[in-house]
Amino acid sequence: MTAHVTARIDLGALAHNVRTIKEHVGGRKVMVVVKADAYGHGLVKCGQAAVNAGADYLGVALLEEAVALREGNVPGPILAWLNTPNDRFTECIARDIDLAVNSIASLKAIANSAYSVDRIARVHVKVDTGLSRNGVLLSDLPELIIALRKAQDEGTVNVVGVMSHFAYADEPSNPTIASQIEEFKTAVDLLEAAGFELEVRHLANSAATLGLPHTYFDMVRPGVAVYGVSPGAEVGNATDFNLKPVMTLTSVVSLLKEVPAGTGVSYAHQYHTTQDTTLALIPAGYADGIPRSATNKGPVLVAGETRRVAGRVCMDQFLLDVGGLNLKLGDEVVLFGDPERGEPSVEDWADAAGTISYEIITRIGPRVHREFLNNSW
Ligand SMILES: *Cc1c(COP(=O)(O)O)cnc(C)c1O
Repeated sequence: MTAHVTARIDLGALAHNVRTIKEHVGGRKVMVVVKADAYGHGLVKCGQAAVNAGADYLGVALLEEAVALREGNVPGPILAWLNTPNDRFTECIARDIDLAVNSIASLKAIANSAYSVDRIARVHVKVDTGLSRNGVLLSDLPELIIALRKAQDEGTVNVVGVMSHFAYADEPSNPTIASQIEEFKTAVDLLEAAGFELEVRHLANSAATLGLPHTYFDMVRPGVAVYGVSPGAEVGNATDFNLKPVMTLTSVVSLLKEVPAGTGVSYAHQYHTTQDTTLALIPAGYADGIPRSATNKGPVLVAGETRRVAGRVCMDQFLLDVGGLNLKLGDEVVLFGDPERGEPSVEDWADAAGTISYEIITRIGPRVHREFLNNSW
């Protein structure tokens, strides 16, 4: 059986990207971010490949993602930074997963869980230095530090790290970058003055990792760049940094039919053929993560040429006008992959769909068959 849609995941390219980033940051630690199923690429396989390639840490948002890594036998330090009340704290603490603390409430939950399993929870203080999202405000940090000091003295937590996240790292000249660095340094100073021996101070996402060396501190936290995708046009192309795309998304021609000029194609006839031509049915739709907003725009490499989606993207399928091409049933088409092979890029699809590259890869759906290549174990 041929899969309707296949995401080929080149773990060799992922390993190359991890090594390239390690070199780029010259000896700093690298936390490879594998949240959201490794940005749609497959959590456990990519986590293991990253560790094998020298990742010093894996980073995830959810505690359940960290647990899934351990259930997949992925070793090494892991940090999960986004928790909710009644989250899987004890499981994480028992499995040596570091947790982020963003408030007195989250500290209490973590300290109580650590006490209940008779372990010391390793925590990173997540500071809000200007994104106004997750994290403790600097104004609330002194109070949290008092509670952390008490918990550490009681033997329930060990404060090992401090982290924050940028609002504008993909705009290298944005003035908020300097002010966030200053706030971050203040947070580091406050924690150190309280006697915590921090192992890691970390602030840089992919954009900062690639473009802003003064943001590195002890460790960087790249996500999208590890998958060979640029964090944004201002930062540059992935190839400028010698990063290779990890995912190639393909589908197959499942029906070919000849139609006359003037034929309306797909729901609401958003496309009309301009001449007698052939339509190819591609069994990939928005349920697979092909954005509906790429209607009439998404680029597809078919028989050596790039054609645009013809008409609406449907739930399970879309069409291509393949007039003039030499094509047969079952032929592979490439939605995105490596531009060096002449394939459209993730960034091309993001432009076509009016979104960012992150959304294109993370929304690749569960129905898509993932095929792993070049694993190192
Ligand atoms: C997602 C995330 C990252 C990685 O961001 P990229 O832009 O993909 O590099 C790093 N840190 C935090 C806190 C995140 O949520």
